Amino acid sequence: MSDVNYALVSVPKGASAMAERMAVLRVATGRGVTVDSSTAVAAAEVLRLWRRQVVQLRDAGWGPAQGVRFQYLRNCPPSGVEMKPAAGSPRMRLRSCTCQSVCPWCWSREVARRSFDATVAALERLGETFERGETLERRFKLVVSTSADVRIDSKREPGASLDQLVGSLGRAKHELGKFAAGFGLLGVVSPGKTGWVYSQRAIALVPCDRPPGSAATKTYDPPTRRNLAKAVARFARYPAGMLRGDADRAVRLLAARGSYRLLRFSGAFATPGRSAPDPDIRVDPRAHTATPDLPTAAPRGFDGDHELPAPARQ
Ligand SMILES: [Zn+2]
Repeated sequence: MSDVNYALVSVPKGASAMAERMAVLRVATGRGVTVDSSTAVAAAEVLRLWRRQVVQLRDAGWGPAQGVRFQYLRNCPPSGVEMKPAAGSPRMRLRSCTCQSVCPWCWSREVARRSFDATVAALERLGETFERGETLERRFKLVVSTSADVRIDSKREPGASLDQLVGSLGRAKHELGKFAAGFGLLGVVSPGKTGWVYSQRAIALVPCDRPPGSAATKTYDPPTRRNLAKAVARFARYPAGMLRGDADRAVRLLAARGSYRLLRFSGAFATPGRSAPDPDIRVDPRAHTATPDLPTAAPRGFDGDHELPAPARQ
């Protein structure tokens, strides 16, 4: 098996596809690719970076990149853009690698898409219109907050630090639950320059009369479909360190991260009847108990019912 030569067929106009590609293509910036570069250029760059990282992950000993799966990872179909094998590409079955903790395309399909769907469903449940929101009276506004500093020791091995991150998400859930009609919380961790970088994010529908939060909180108003895509893309932005960071640290993170639920939806964002984790997902019991001291100002909070899908297999 060898690499499929993907060619851009189209750039879907729908808001969900917009959110899916905005969440990952930004990682392409650098090396002459800017945020203004065409979608085709950015998508090709993400593909190049991913294929390079797959080699490094394999060489660093990551289980899923060994043997026959190596090529499936490299050929994982892009998301948010329609790309097909160009003429002359090797004929082979293409399938998602399902390693959404690290693969940018699967992250896009799982984290960004699920967040988009949950946000749309929440607006609908609350009876909020989002096509022409500015002409109607609304009760809730869509906000996204990011907290880059969750005061987790960046040098410590990921295991205990992930416990801390889960604790931080729990506190955020508690805080957000006091006033938000619904929200999503995402804990993000990726290799940094010297260790691992932790952050947490929230996307929430909060009462319109609630004052704006800190500078790290952005309001997307009116919640048109385009604003919705932008909000979800900010919330679900792919962590660049997984693609550009040290592969050995990425592998140690992936080994530790498997059972943690880092994506959660609560209130109007939670899917009725889906309060239990997917059956194939291992849930660390520690995720339900709790929690060391929380760091700084927790981003406005949250609760959780879902998590980050299929953990990367080791
Ligand atoms: Zn993938």
